[in-house]
Amino acid sequence: MSPQIVICGAGFGGLELAARLSAAFGSEIDLTLIDKNNAFVFGFSKFEIMFGRQRREDVSSYYANISKPGVTVRQELITTIDPEARRVVTDRNTYDADILVVALGADYDFGATPGFVEGGHEFYTVDGAVQLRDVLPNVRSGNVIVAVVSEPFKCPPAPCEAAMLLDEYFSERGVRSSIDLSVVSPWGIPIPASGPASDAILERFRERNIGWVPNQGVKALDPATKTLHLRDGSTLPYDLFLGIPIHRVPEVVQASGLAVDGWIPVNKANLSTQFPDVYAIGDVTSAPVPKAGIFAESAGRAVAEHLIVQLRESGAAKPYDGAGSCFIEFGDHRVGRVDVDFLSGPSVTAPFTEASLQGAEEKQEFAASRRKFWFDS
Ligand SMILES: Cc1cc2nc3c(=O)[nH]c(=O)nc-3n(C[C@H](O)[C@H](O)[C@H](O)COP(=O)(O)OP(=O)(O)OC[C@H]3O[C@@H](n4cnc5c(N)ncnc54)[C@H](O)[C@@H]3O)c2cc1C
Repeated sequence: MSPQIVICGAGFGGLELAARLSAAFGSEIDLTLIDKNNAFVFGFSKFEIMFGRQRREDVSSYYANISKPGVTVRQELITTIDPEARRVVTDRNTYDADILVVALGADYDFGATPGFVEGGHEFYTVDGAVQLRDVLPNVRSGNVIVAVVSEPFKCPPAPCEAAMLLDEYFSERGVRSSIDLSVVSPWGIPIPASGPASDAILERFRERNIGWVPNQGVKALDPATKTLHLRDGSTLPYDLFLGIPIHRVPEVVQASGLAVDGWIPVNKANLSTQFPDVYAIGDVTSAPVPKAGIFAESAGRAVAEHLIVQLRESGAAKPYDGAGSCFIEFGDHRVGRVDVDFLSGPSVTAPFTEASLQGAEEKQEFAASRRKFWFDS
């Protein structure tokens, strides 16, 4: 009898793992993939939505369209995870797994930053991006601040990408010269893993007059006076605040006992947790890689290889490489790329490819190839 595999979360990590196992075993596996949503949306598609270039339905890949041998997809809300019993309870069913994988991503805690909910906007959720689509056309002047509240946060380049895309958007509308645009970051440089990519971003910021406020965080917003209170006690005036909120594990993971110091600790070679036959991949973990889809995807790939070896009782799986290609929007339809490898060598490597129109095409291909592999039969 084939083992019951349950994957909690059909994001970058869960989809990659399910597709790999289905490709390896076909109908010989018995895999259940559970997600509360009806569709997957790439993180970067939120830019498309916020600038009104695409609608939510244009960028949604519906789980109902997944047709993969051995894989059953359930749209259910996971309410309890018992890692010792490998039991998952949802709003509709109970699943007992032989192998359990937690791929539930990171949630946001908007309420933890005073004033954010009342006076801020965000593009880290689809709903937030939809709201911004209606707000941005009314912005004609003032201080626009993209600010990271605190670490860790998803997709290190995203705040800077947002600023470069806002610069393009306001320029196209002819209002850029009346707008002060800046980025508040917890780091000294935009992408700590890549000096060359950071240099290119800061060069673009200088060219386009985008302010860079490094080594900072956000304590609070005062919507009455439109003042941003930073970590070091200083303040900045804002007219439009786009915040990257505090991240945390989903409530159900917190209650499961899997998280330690905020995130799920894993063996960095094979993503196993301290509980037998329980794995965790992607943003929900404290694996030594940034929180980004490409690393969730490579973690899904690593667990798949590990399980294939284990279930076939032959071969040897390569340890998790923590590698992937990260695309960076520079504005003017140009996209740069960093090929990051965190774990396979003695030190991190992250060569940067300059932003170009060809980079934009490669990013499109990246998304199309994932949609095909994860969703097509
Ligand atoms: C604006 C923006 C731009 C980005 N750009 C990039 C980029 O260019 N490249 C890149 O690599 N990454 C990018 N990211 C980051 C990327 O989206 C995430 O890091 C990635 O999705 C993490 O994958 P994951 O599988 O760990 O979690 P997720 O993809 O977040 O998947 C987790 C899944 O779990 C489900 N879930 C959560 N709780 C429950 C529950 N209780 N019950 C059932 N289901 C549940 C969710 O619905 C979700 O589908 C970007 C993010 C943002 C916000």
